[in-house]
Amino acid sequence: MINDAAVKYKKPWVYGAIQGFDGQASVFDAQTGPCYRCLYPEKPKARIANCAEAGVIGAVAGLIGVTQALQVIQLVTGHESFAPLIGKLWTLDTKTMQTRILNIPKNPDCPACSKKRDEVILAYSSPVCGFVPELTPQQARERSNTCLIDVREQEEWDQGHIDGAQLWSLSRMIAGDMPDLPQRQEIILHCQKGMRSLQAAAILKAQGYLEVYSLSGGYEAWVNCFEDATE
Ligand SMILES: [Zn+2]
Repeated sequence: MINDAAVKYKKPWVYGAIQGFDGQASVFDAQTGPCYRCLYPEKPKARIANCAEAGVIGAVAGLIGVTQALQVIQLVTGHESFAPLIGKLWTLDTKTMQTRILNIPKNPDCPACSKKRDEVILAYSSPVCGFVPELTPQQARERSNTCLIDVREQEEWDQGHIDGAQLWSLSRMIAGDMPDLPQRQEIILHCQKGMRSLQAAAILKAQGYLEVYSLSGGYEAWVNCFEDATE
């Protein structure tokens, strides 16, 4: 999930992982190198032991954390003498203190970074962190009995909108003017390109609405898909 968000929003992900006495770090920056899913395309089918079950050494967490901090300094400052771990996996075995650097190739068929930005769908919803799941236009259209809300402004709506949508702008929500929406219905929010609707969805989730989705790529993606919007 972190990887797909990093790919979608064009951010480098400074990665670190530990288990027992082993640690590893890398920088996944799909703009200039491979992403995490070039290495691991899908979630593992088998259940993975968590830290409490597998055990971690606190000092290893410290070493990997400091390594990640150094990678961030390298990325932010960009000095010519630096070679951040883009496309490389740095591994550390603290039992022997042996380190290695493995090259990670970019996968041309990667399920994340080979796609266009709008096609990267952040589909893993968590009721804990308030994360907003997204739907493609096709997925949104296939759902029945949904409440479709356009969070753009009136002038954008006037230039064209999706049949059956209701207008309730993000700016109204930010001003505290909240729509009265059905609690038991799926709510799909959309804007022009799919960014404002994420913010609006987060606001609605904070208001207690549970089934809130954002249309990936927004109105433009919908029109590209179906070209049946009302003029
Ligand atoms: Zn990739």
